[in-house]
Amino acid sequence: MDASLCVAWFEEAARLVHRDRDRLTRLDAEIGDGDHGTNLDRGLTEVRKALAESPPGSPAEALTIAGTTLIRRVGGASGPLYGSVFRQMGKALRSPVTLAAFSAAFEEGVVAVERLGKAALGDKTMVDALAPASRALALAVRDGVGVREAVEQAARAAAEGAEATIPMRARKGRASYLGERSVGHMDPGAASSALFMEALATVAREAA
Ligand code: ADP
Ligand code: MG
Repeated sequence: MDASLCVAWFEEAARLVHRDRDRLTRLDAEIGDGDHGTNLDRGLTEVRKALAESPPGSPAEALTIAGTTLIRRVGGASGPLYGSVFRQMGKALRSPVTLAAFSAAFEEGVVAVERLGKAALGDKTMVDALAPASRALALAVRDGVGVREAVEQAARAAAEGAEATIPMRARKGRASYLGERSVGHMDPGAASSALFMEALATVAREAA
């Protein structure tokens, strides 16, 4: 991965979140306060702007710029949470950015959000999409799977993880105030995390 591929990842993520903004907001209206789609759409627009204004020289720099922008510009829980994923990734990423290096940094990013949000698998948050994606990447690295296939598998794991939040009862964030009534709806943050991974799979496919 080079800097331009990382920038392409955020551009594609911004495109997908913009396309699905209303769906994400609807999901958040069901179990939260109905701002997730607009929050993230605005945040990623700012990320695109920041990356265009100061073109990063490396993937790590791109991740740091994106993370910092999300923390600064997105109100709500998801800005700081996503921001910490990308900032931690930027900090942890070793070069050259091989699949193994990316996977290791991604794992650290997920640990950062688990720590910041005090969330674990099964709490019905973005962690339920991000952690399975991270695990899928790690397994792909272990098995020597190619980059495209690896991120494809990670995207699938994230989408399945997001689906799996539907029957869960929320234990973290705003949705947890609903208790039992949070059951039966997909977590909006898990849904947007699945979009981030779908975006990664798309840029990997197009780069090959
Ligand atoms: P807010 O909840 O402040 O309105 P958003 O609507 O933008 O923020 O984002 C909500 C999403 O953030 C949730 O769907 C969930 O995935 C994620 N989230 C909220 N709290 C936590 C937490 N403590 N740990 C992990 N993720 C969380
Ligand atoms: Mg919200």
